[in-house]
Amino acid sequence: MKIGKLIVAVLLLVTLWTPLHSEQADGITHRRIRVVIDPGQGGRDPGAIGIDGVHEADINLAIGRLVFLKALTDPLIEIILTRSDDRFIAPIQRALFANEIRADLFVSIHGNGFYNPQAHGIETLIHTTAGQESYLLAATIQRHLIGSLGARDRGVRRQFLFIRRAQMPAVLVEVGFVSNPVEGRLLQTFAHQSQIATAILAGIREFATTHSHLLGSATATR
Ligand SMILES: [Zn+2]
Repeated sequence: MKIGKLIVAVLLLVTLWTPLHSEQADGITHRRIRVVIDPGQGGRDPGAIGIDGVHEADINLAIGRLVFLKALTDPLIEIILTRSDDRFIAPIQRALFANEIRADLFVSIHGNGFYNPQAHGIETLIHTTAGQESYLLAATIQRHLIGSLGARDRGVRRQFLFIRRAQMPAVLVEVGFVSNPVEGRLLQTFAHQSQIATAILAGIREFATTHSHLLGSATATR
C-alpha cells in the first residue's frame, strides 16, 4: 500500500504540470466530457465488510481516486468525484449533485458482499427502467472490465437504484466481491485497483467517442 500511495503522489505531481484543456487544430478549446465518478458508501456507512475485515467503502474510494488521476491529462474526459475522502453522503444527493453540475455521465463504484464466500465476479447495474443509453454505457464498461481482468462475467443487471435520479446515462459498477477470499484480497492491492480504474476509464472513453450523441443531461431519458 505504501508503494501504491507513492505512485499516486508521483502521478498527481506529474499531471499538475500538464494543461487541463485540449487545444485542437482549429485553436478552439473544447469542453471535455464531464463524468461524475461516485465512490460508493463512506463515513458512517462502510458498506460490505469483506475478507480480513476490509471495508467496501475504502476500496470504492481507492478505485475512484485512481480513475480521477488517470484522467487528469485526458483530452476527452473530465472526472469529478462525489467524494475524495472517507465521508458519508446520502446516495440520492450524489445523483442530484451530478444533475446540478450538468454531468454527461454518472458512474458509481461499489464492491459486492455476500454471505456465501464463494460468490465472485463483476457486474454492472442499471436502474430497473433505465434507457438504452445507460444500458450501452454499462455493457461497454462491463466488457472492458471482463476483458482486462478475466473475472467471472455476471453481466449487466437491472435493479431499483438511487441512480434513477441522475438525469444522464448512469451505471453502478460492482467491481468484485470483498467477501470472496481470493477476489476480496485482490481488491485490496494497488495493482488490481489500478487495473480496474484503467478498464472503467477505457469503457467510458469508448462510450463517449462512439455514442457522443447520447451524452448529456439534456438528451438522456436516464
Ligand atoms: Zn456499495
